[in-house]
Amino acid sequence: MDDIIELDRKYITATYARLPLHIVSGSGSVAVGADGREYIDMGAGIAVNSFGISDKEWVAAVTEQLGKVQHTSNLYYTEPCVRLAGMLCERTGMDKVFFCNSGAEANECAIKAARKYAAEHKGEEYYNIITLKNSFHGRTVTTLAATGQDEYHTMFKPLTDGFVYAEPNDIEDVRRKLDANKTAAIMFEVVQGEGGVNALSFDFVSGLRDLAREYEVLLIADEVQTGNGRTGKLYGYMNYDVEPDIVTTAKGLAGGLPIGAVMFSRNVSGVYTPGTHGSTFGGNPVCCAGAVNILSRIDESLLEQVRQKSDFIRSAFEGARGVRSVSGLGLMLGLDVEKDAKSVASECLDRGVLVLTAKNKVRLLPALNIPMDLLGRAVDIIKEVCAQS
Ligand SMILES: *Cc1c(COP(=O)(O)O)cnc(C)c1O
Repeated sequence: MDDIIELDRKYITATYARLPLHIVSGSGSVAVGADGREYIDMGAGIAVNSFGISDKEWVAAVTEQLGKVQHTSNLYYTEPCVRLAGMLCERTGMDKVFFCNSGAEANECAIKAARKYAAEHKGEEYYNIITLKNSFHGRTVTTLAATGQDEYHTMFKPLTDGFVYAEPNDIEDVRRKLDANKTAAIMFEVVQGEGGVNALSFDFVSGLRDLAREYEVLLIADEVQTGNGRTGKLYGYMNYDVEPDIVTTAKGLAGGLPIGAVMFSRNVSGVYTPGTHGSTFGGNPVCCAGAVNILSRIDESLLEQVRQKSDFIRSAFEGARGVRSVSGLGLMLGLDVEKDAKSVASECLDRGVLVLTAKNKVRLLPALNIPMDLLGRAVDIIKEVCAQS
């Protein structure tokens, strides 16, 4: 154990069950530990380091902005956030963007927007938001309430009122919840990440689209994890036949700097007016300069590589010993393993590969540009670990 691990135990709240690895540096999909050992990174900081660790082009874009101005407050105009918003709107067809600093904050902003829109168009009693069981939407009191998993709620009640949980992939259950509750919006992840890397079915998402129209409720896609190329499309919803009214994103958008973004379609983009929402750090020029670099590189050819690497991982694990099934989309994949997923993660760490878990799945979220040789080596090691009893 080095010093840092001891000091962390002494001074940092015990909210994280960290693995025994102190990362000091890295390059792309290789992380380097304090003892100089190299690890293949199949987690990318939980889908955050879109182009890996300290990618040169990204570092240059970020440091260039750092040398100009690091923060101005939202009382003034800056270029990087406007450029980023323009890119987001042009590539999604959305109309306007609000910037904040994290996924939970992006979802808070979307929830407030849906409530305000419903209050103005249908009446204040239409405040309910339907989310899905097994979802994850964040750790604030309201986004915890939105999260359809009781285990996250205990000890923190009362949570924000007005959330109703429906069964994923059961469109009749969503209809029942709409009939029973005056509803502002339906909020969903197209692939439930923390809930176990489960993609919603194509038909269910089409069903949500139809119900939203029928009941005049908004659709909010939580793309905090599925966004920014992760699923092999720029945003996860683009794998489906749906156009959400509000899209939230965060994790991978700025390639490793804190950022959250909420995109609004034309019908709802007027919901916020001066003074109705805000964020001190939101739209920070350094984070936005990083995001402009990342987004400009998530082009069709990169997305095609994401899909090919996804197929490679899937076919390597389908039918592999100790692996029951593979779930997810793009480079957001879950392995339903026979062993305890946490012990797979810790054995992989011993063998020089960083993987994540979600429920009892081994979760793989490598950098979008992970080189094939590293990916192949990591897959071989994970396969061996899963096969050993
Ligand atoms: C990670 C995550 C969040 C929370 O994001 P933070 O940046 O940790 O607040 C919300 N929704 C989804 C789908 C996520 O994966």
